[in-house]
Amino acid sequence: MANERGIGTKCLHLEEEGFDNYGAISFPIYQTATYAHPGVGKSTGYDYSRLQNPTREQLEKVVASLEKGIDALALSSGMAAIALMMELFSPGDHIIVDADLYGGSIRLFRNVSAKNGITFTGIDCYKEDVEAYITEHTKAVYIETPTNPMMHVTDIAAVSEITRQHDLLLIVDNTFLSPYFQNPLALGADIVVHSGTKYLGGHNDTLAGFLVTDREDISEKFRFLIKTTGAGLAPFDSWLILRGIKTLGIRMDRAQENALRIAAWLKERDEVKEVLYPGLPEHPGYEIMKWQARGFGAMLTFQAESKELALSILENVRLIRYAESLGGVETLITYPTTQTHADVPEEIRLRNGITDRTLRLSVGIEDAEDLIDDLEAAFTKR
Ligand SMILES: *Cc1c(COP(=O)(O)O)cnc(C)c1O
Repeated sequence: MANERGIGTKCLHLEEEGFDNYGAISFPIYQTATYAHPGVGKSTGYDYSRLQNPTREQLEKVVASLEKGIDALALSSGMAAIALMMELFSPGDHIIVDADLYGGSIRLFRNVSAKNGITFTGIDCYKEDVEAYITEHTKAVYIETPTNPMMHVTDIAAVSEITRQHDLLLIVDNTFLSPYFQNPLALGADIVVHSGTKYLGGHNDTLAGFLVTDREDISEKFRFLIKTTGAGLAPFDSWLILRGIKTLGIRMDRAQENALRIAAWLKERDEVKEVLYPGLPEHPGYEIMKWQARGFGAMLTFQAESKELALSILENVRLIRYAESLGGVETLITYPTTQTHADVPEEIRLRNGITDRTLRLSVGIEDAEDLIDDLEAAFTKR
C-alpha cells in the first residue's frame, strides 16, 4: 500500500481525484440554492444548499482529510461552528472549559449557552487536575492549545485519557496551529473546532468555521443540526477557503520562521517583560508541543513594561497593522484587553494575566527584517 500522503500534499489533493467537472483543477463554484430531481424518488444527491452544496462539500472533504476526521462541516464563521456544536448539549449539562479562551467563545458560553441552562467551570487545563472538576452532570471538556492569548499548552492525550474514562467529549479549538501543525483527533479528541477565518483561509478576506469529528454518531447529529439551523458556508466563501488551504503549508512554515525571529528579538529588549511563544525552549509547553504538534505556530504574546509603551507600539507600527484577527499573510498586532477580550469580565482577564501591557502578534509572511525594523521604530518612537 502506498504511504499516507504528507500534509502539504493533502492541502492540494484529495485521495480520489477524477475528471468530474471537466477535469477543472480549481473546484467550480456551484452558486445554486436548489437542485432539480430527475424523477420522483430520484436525486442527484443534492436537494437544497442549506443541506449540502458541491463546493462546500469539496471543502469539507479537504478539511476532514487534513484533520484526520470522518466528517467536517463548513460554517459561516468560527462562532457559528461553536454555537452549532453547543446544540449537542441540554439544560443541566456541565462543561469544563479552559479559563483562557478566545473572547468570543467566553462570551457565547457566559451569555448564550448559560441562558440555555448549560453550566461551565473555567479552569487552567494546562496545569490543573481536570478530573477533580468532573460532576455527575459533566458532559464535555473544551480546550484551546495553545490558548488565546496567553499561549498555555495542554497535553491533549493526557486530557483525553480522562475524558475517555468518564465518557465525556473532548473538544479542541485548533485554530491557533491549524491542521498543518496539530491534529487533536489523532491525540484522542472527539471534536475539533476551527475558525477558518484564520490560517485555513489565510488572507484576512473571508469568515468561515469548521467542526470536524471522527465519530459517526457526532457526525450524524451535526448533519441534522446544520440542515436544521442553516449556518452552512456559502459556495463562493467555500471556494475562497479551498484556495487558501492550497498554500496553508508554505504560509505556516514561513510565518513560524518569522515568529521565531521576532520572539528572539523581543526577548532581547529591556522594555519587554515577558515573551509567550511555545517555540522558545524556556516556554513551559515547549516539550509537549515538540511531540504533540509538528510546529509551534506563529502566534505570540508579550508584556510591554508599561501601558504607555503598549499604546505607543500600537500607535506607531506602520507595516504591522493594528487590527483584530490572526492567521493571515499580513502581520497584525492586537490589544486583547480592548479588542478580542473586551467582553471578558475584568477579574477573569486579570486572573488570566491579560493586562493593559499585553500585546498579541499574529506574525505573517512578510520579510522578517522588515517586521523587525517596524517593531524597532515603534518601540523607540515615544
Ligand atoms: C477567531 C476565533 C474564533 C471565532 O471565529 P470567527 O471566525 O471569528 O467567528 C474562535 N476561536 C479562536 C481561537 C479564534 O481565534
